[in-house]
Amino acid sequence: MSNLKNKSTFLLDMDGTIFLGNELIEGAVDFLRAIKKSGRRYIFLTNNSSKSKSIYVEKLRNLGIDADKEEIFTSGEATTRYLKRQHKGAKVYLLGTPALEEEFISEGFEVIKERGQDIDFVVLGFDTTLTYEKLWGACEYISKGVEYIATHPDFNCPLPQGAFMPDAGAMAALIEASTGKKPKVIGKPNKEVVESISDKYGLDKSTMVMVGDRLYTDVQTGINAGITSVVVFSGETKEFDYKSSSIRADYAFASVKEMISQI
Ligand SMILES: [Mg+2]
Repeated sequence: MSNLKNKSTFLLDMDGTIFLGNELIEGAVDFLRAIKKSGRRYIFLTNNSSKSKSIYVEKLRNLGIDADKEEIFTSGEATTRYLKRQHKGAKVYLLGTPALEEEFISEGFEVIKERGQDIDFVVLGFDTTLTYEKLWGACEYISKGVEYIATHPDFNCPLPQGAFMPDAGAMAALIEASTGKKPKVIGKPNKEVVESISDKYGLDKSTMVMVGDRLYTDVQTGINAGITSVVVFSGETKEFDYKSSSIRADYAFASVKEMISQI
């Protein structure tokens, strides 16, 4: 087991780890300050590929956390970085929001909207602007054998008070029913998201630690990527459930507040 005091980059899940809905988790600001004060860094990691980074910067700032865009990493960015490593400037048929489309264009991809074109990838994001026409086109390309990528696997995106929105995983289930094909998935819990961060910031994986409240996404990301993992019991996972889970983190804390003295 590696000592948390030796880690220089904290990859942080947000909901359930730093805040819960619209409320800060107690001690989160002190935890973040402690990281910075010791000359280390944190990167907020979200699987949500529907929003631009400025939305998260604003949300964190409203909660009293001073964050900038360089400290936010989305599954959308993980995907553009992954695809760039495969095929720079590729032609992409995208199921995504205007914010995700902008991200693809600014990273040098050609976003193709018509059917029947010669394209390199179909990319499925959390498309809150999804239409039947887009789905139909994607199914056509995928069934013809075009490489198919999803930004993340979540079936639902949680909202405050137990509400939710159907997410990319649910859209992928529809596409699978039509084409029989599953996407290659980039976001948490897959190792590609950590590899994209390592690539972007020039960081060695041995310096990173993944902190989050979900075992099957956050902790599993650490396991899949071969980095240290921490589960906090301030969100979805309760200490009681963790006792019987087969997914084991390197460290477990009640919340990030209890981590402060250990980092
Ligand atoms: Mg969470």
